[in-house]
Amino acid sequence: MTTTTSQTSTEVGNYFVSNYPPFSQWKPEFVPEAIEALDQPPRTQDPLGLYLHIPFCRKRCKFCYFKVYTDKNAGEIELYLDALIKELECYSRTRAFQGRELRFAYFGGGTPSYISEKQLHYLVDGLNRHVSWSNAEEVTFECEPGTLRKSKLETLKQIGVTRLSLGVEHFDDEILAANGRAHLSPEIYSVYDMARQVDFPQINLDLIAGMVGETEAKWRDTVRRAIELQPDSVTIYQMELPYNTVISQEIINQGVASPIADWPTKQRWLDYAFDEFQARGYRIASAYTVATTAKPCRFIYTDALWHGGDMIGLGVSSFSHFGGVHFQNVHSFEEYLAALEMDQLPLLRALTLTPKQKLIREMILQLKTGAIDQQYFRGKFGVDVWNEFQPVYERLDDDKLIERRNGTIALTRSGLLQVDHFLSEFFEPELKTVRYV
Ligand code: SF4
Repeated sequence: MTTTTSQTSTEVGNYFVSNYPPFSQWKPEFVPEAIEALDQPPRTQDPLGLYLHIPFCRKRCKFCYFKVYTDKNAGEIELYLDALIKELECYSRTRAFQGRELRFAYFGGGTPSYISEKQLHYLVDGLNRHVSWSNAEEVTFECEPGTLRKSKLETLKQIGVTRLSLGVEHFDDEILAANGRAHLSPEIYSVYDMARQVDFPQINLDLIAGMVGETEAKWRDTVRRAIELQPDSVTIYQMELPYNTVISQEIINQGVASPIADWPTKQRWLDYAFDEFQARGYRIASAYTVATTAKPCRFIYTDALWHGGDMIGLGVSSFSHFGGVHFQNVHSFEEYLAALEMDQLPLLRALTLTPKQKLIREMILQLKTGAIDQQYFRGKFGVDVWNEFQPVYERLDDDKLIERRNGTIALTRSGLLQVDHFLSEFFEPELKTVRYV
């Protein structure tokens, strides 16, 4: 972690806590432990999910830190889709997979909607030969508005997508262009209308507070325009600057000042958005999400992951968590294809979690929902989390970032807005100072 609550400007470095222990602790020498976890008897009662990484985009956004390619041709994309199918086939042969049903699937990227309708059918038919998601409760598909048309949306509905997530990010065309997005606002509106006609059970919009060029007035206008569309849920991230973004490289190489608003400003913008959505019947579902109260609206993917569920990540660089072991695939496109060509799982590094690490992981991830149930942790881990982490909780209590209510530890609004800044305080002492990624 390079950011602390006392640092207010948005400088280069990671602050978003998405997993525990830090990725830097996952090692190639522990890969046999992942293989061992896959050779255990199947736990058929536990939820199982699938993440599919589609690493292709029309162009690279200036704030992007994901593993993406903007130069792959149709032939290379098809080789990649074959590799994804092969990877799932490898998993389906393991002992731990026998008899297990998928509860959710998530197509992320990159831009999953970049691939063609024909490729989508090809991919899904291939995957379904090995593990079916026909009984899955949720299939999420991330989209970039400029890659969609009505027939592709109909294809997504046919392959079982239940939750369409539109990467809107902002409604202001100058801001979209300044940040290198491939789409502009007219595409957002036309795609949103078509998606409503196709009738997906849930449509989510992604927004980012603090893009290059953001102003108070433009942010308020973006929140107003998002509300006008009446989405089922909205995910709002505060812009951060991991090392490998174009913006970060400009700061480092050209010595320019960070063009991103400071953390208190971004927190104020998120606070404003929360208030506006709440006033129109939305509830705050997590530190990053508001959801309509007009109908049931869940996000099974994060719910399962944040409660320790198993998820297999397919694709280059993808992350998995299975049977208490973290593992990640190789970073290189060529190495990924080559491993699967040889019928081998393309694993790069792994880490088996200790019981204490499992507890910390679930606790910090569930704190992102805004409250944790102390009884849940007593039942699952035999631990009173307040007593176990008392100095940290007392400090957060003194700073009015949390409060205790009827067996829960709840984040105040202020705590929710800056949750990623203090989660590392719960890390084990020896992992507080290590590199996160
Ligand atoms: S569309 Fe998403 S994944 Fe692709 S470059 Fe932009 S931020 Fe990265």
